Amino acid sequence: MSLSSSPTSSPSVLVVGSGIAGLACARALHDNGVSVRVVDRGRVVGGRLATKRVDDRPADIGARYFTVPEGSGFTSVVEDWVARGLARPWTTTFDVFSADGTRQSKSGPMRYAAPGGLRSLATDLADRLRRDGVTIDQEHTVEGVSDEGVVAGIQYDNVVLAMPDPQARRMLGPDSAPAQSLHRAEEWEPTLSVVATWPARHWPADLHGAFVNGSSVLDFVADDGDRRGDGAAVLVAHTTAEFARKHLDGPENAVGEVVDALRTLLAIDEPPSSTLVHRWSLARPKTSHAASYLVDGHLAVCGDSWGDRSAVATAWESGTALGTALAPIESRSRS
Ligand SMILES: Cc1cc2nc3c(=O)[nH]c(=O)nc-3n(C[C@H](O)[C@H](O)[C@H](O)COP(=O)(O)OP(=O)(O)OC[C@H]3O[C@@H](n4cnc5c(N)ncnc54)[C@H](O)[C@@H]3O)c2cc1C
Repeated sequence: MSLSSSPTSSPSVLVVGSGIAGLACARALHDNGVSVRVVDRGRVVGGRLATKRVDDRPADIGARYFTVPEGSGFTSVVEDWVARGLARPWTTTFDVFSADGTRQSKSGPMRYAAPGGLRSLATDLADRLRRDGVTIDQEHTVEGVSDEGVVAGIQYDNVVLAMPDPQARRMLGPDSAPAQSLHRAEEWEPTLSVVATWPARHWPADLHGAFVNGSSVLDFVADDGDRRGDGAAVLVAHTTAEFARKHLDGPENAVGEVVDALRTLLAIDEPPSSTLVHRWSLARPKTSHAASYLVDGHLAVCGDSWGDRSAVATAWESGTALGTALAPIESRSRS
């Protein structure tokens, strides 16, 4: 469906994208008294915070986990999720498999996961916005936006493109000034996510997750049962960008090779009872922008490439910073 039905009185800002950046931007705008509408082409909110039901159980097929940078405004959002049981501290320790097959433990920051799958966190942000009167429309594809902020004949004060740069570029005219500052598709990396389910667990109980070095196929493996906390015998493998690039036209044909690599890595004798593959053509940017967001006239862009490194927290911070910047100065000082 295209964006054709307009509310009688148009909101000031249209946020295109209901990933975590778009939802955070809408929250900051709303909290600063700016009327905002959110649209997304997807059936559900969340974007790359993606969870799919496999054998009637949610499995995370997008972001593997998230971290909370010290001093970030994201901290209070995460504390609230944890207090309500929506998010949980998962682990500080992952394994690292070397090319020669040796396994080592490596500690790092706390990685958070969600018992209901990471998408449930985006759903929570969206539900709260809806309760506050913000309209969020799914299955609304925005085909184009003019430099003057017009979408499907409606003029907005600002149109926010909260998404990967190449997706934002597609909506802007080739001569549009902001498009020149955005990365092209070649500057983003793809990956395939393969969910594999077994009747019983066949891998070390303390696995949590593992970075895989020296593999042409595997980049990371997550124990989804451990991550979600239900102990289900489910692994999610993320492939290297090079491997994904070769299989973007037929990801189903890649599943056998990914499962073989997984079984070899973890010495699993049995084949999985079910598998599912998801293709991410634009999983993460190769490089990030130094700024937290872009504002150019009526157009603005935010998302995970606007900040230190591509991550859920970066996307939230980028969206929040942009929403605050677009609000009138008087309301910013009130909030
Ligand atoms: C496989 C994978 C693993 C990852 N692992 C991690 C991890 O471990 N830790 C971490 O912190 N991050 C991880 N990430 C990155 C993390 O998922 C992202 O940084 C974050 O979710 C990005 O949010 P966003 O809102 O910027 O973009 P997105 O979530 O991509 O949201 C963009 C939205 O825009 C919508 N959209 C696009 N074009 C249009 C259009 N024309 N009209 C309407 N809507 C449109 C899309 O449908 C989408 O919902 C991972 C990502 C992937 C893919």
